[in-house]
Amino acid sequence: MADDCIFCKIRNGEIPSEILHSDDDCFVIRDINPLAPTHLLVIPNRHFAQLSELGTEPNPAFAGIFAAARAMAEREGVADSGYRLIINQGIDGGQEVMHLHMHLLGGKPLRGLGLG
Ligand code: AMP
Ligand code: ZN
Repeated sequence: MADDCIFCKIRNGEIPSEILHSDDDCFVIRDINPLAPTHLLVIPNRHFAQLSELGTEPNPAFAGIFAAARAMAEREGVADSGYRLIINQGIDGGQEVMHLHMHLLGGKPLRGLGLG
């Protein structure tokens, strides 16, 4: 938990947001500024600002994050049409919220490597 972190505050209920899914590893919300018909954020419960804070050991929570993304893609009806998972890492990666998270985008053909 980081005091000034928007995603930690959402998880703790300090900032109201619809939690679509929640489990031991992560929770899922809709992006407030959607760039595709489905644009979700899969957010680890534990506060890590960036991948570099994860250390060198494999992190079991990551299996849970990918499982949640897959389940949410099914629920959103984009599993068969396809979707994109993105982690923006650091300044050049375009990371704005410094609590590691994964974007799930789908519901329209996504071209190139950009988010839009
Ligand atoms: P990133 O650039 O990967 O750090 O993405 C941060 C994402 O969080 C952006 O796509 C924002 O639109 C989204 N975001 C910021 N605040 C909120 C919020 N309160 N609820 C939902 N999504 C948010
Ligand atoms: Zn946080």
